[in-house]
Amino acid sequence: TDNHPPRAEIVIDLGAIRHNLGLLAARAAASGAETMAVVKADGYGHGAVPAARAAMSGGATWLGACSLGEALALREAGIDARLFSWLDTPDVDFAPGIAHDVDLSVSSLTELERVADAAGRAGKPARVHLKIDTGLARNGCPAYAWPDLVKRAAAEPGVDVVAVWSHLACADEPGHPSVDRQAERFADAYALARDAGLEPLRHLANSAATLTRPDLHFDLVRPGIAMYGLNPVPQPEPLRPAMTLRSSVVLTKRIEAGESVSYGHTWTAERDTTLALVPAGYADGVPRTLSGRMSVWLDGARRPIAGRVCMDQLVVDCGDHEPELGAEVVLFGSGERGEPTATEWADVIGTIDYEIVTGMYRPRVRRRYV
Ligand code: PLP
Repeated sequence: TDNHPPRAEIVIDLGAIRHNLGLLAARAAASGAETMAVVKADGYGHGAVPAARAAMSGGATWLGACSLGEALALREAGIDARLFSWLDTPDVDFAPGIAHDVDLSVSSLTELERVADAAGRAGKPARVHLKIDTGLARNGCPAYAWPDLVKRAAAEPGVDVVAVWSHLACADEPGHPSVDRQAERFADAYALARDAGLEPLRHLANSAATLTRPDLHFDLVRPGIAMYGLNPVPQPEPLRPAMTLRSSVVLTKRIEAGESVSYGHTWTAERDTTLALVPAGYADGVPRTLSGRMSVWLDGARRPIAGRVCMDQLVVDCGDHEPELGAEVVLFGSGERGEPTATEWADVIGTIDYEIVTGMYRPRVRRRYV
């Protein structure tokens, strides 16, 4: 409420998502492909519904969710784009998905039977994308079982085979030999589907392949991370990171050289300095492993985090600068002003920026859209 302003907030720039998706969709369109915006995991932490709407305004014609529940939540929000979901537990009932025109992934005969059964109950055929495992070895049908799956799917009246699809393991390392190997297996799988009389769409490309492999765009690309403005490939791309994590200064104080800061006294002032207290900690999504290894953006400069990040707060070493109470502290953002980015955080703590942004869906941290 207004009486309880957030201690930390995520600001999502929907214009950035629209811009990024527009760039990806233009690349796809140049190869004759449409674009599926991947909004699983609550839109990679950006909010699935607002991210989906921004993506659609940028040119996405499809939306991709992980679970059927995620897909149905988009329908319930009134989104009428083509929807695709691909990974559920064996106890999920597909009938509501079929009733609400959610396309479903099928990787095995067991899944095919479950989907066909649900189609019978929903009273209309299921729109199915057959998934071939071309080398990621997660879900997807192994090549040895593919001919049988294709044959059975083609003969199953409860199922319309809309697409053949797969997912790449190493597209973020351009030139990695596995990408071409996966593409070859994908071509073989598609040829078998055609031999069985099917005329499916094909989709394979994630963000990295959308950016670097136009030859793999086929009918549809499925970018996720790049639509949120984070670049998965080494080459620079004009993407705009959409998420900012910000807080503010709630207290300042001077300490003398030799005094230590925060739990464990892991940081000691080398000179007299001003400390600024920021009410954001690891319960607000600031990893404790950033302690002593990251700075924040405060009053036009980067200033280091002093000592350990706590559950609810962290301390910034401001030297002889005296911030005003309430001054904005940007923990990570687009980087345009010089602030740290989610990618920098990830590099420092040894993960990927995907994990940083998806980890920012937290009730404690307000999400605001601009
Ligand atoms: N397609 C599938 C099946 C995925 O699981 C994902 C995300 O992991 C994507 C597409 C989007 O990948 P990226 O975020 O690397 O673009």
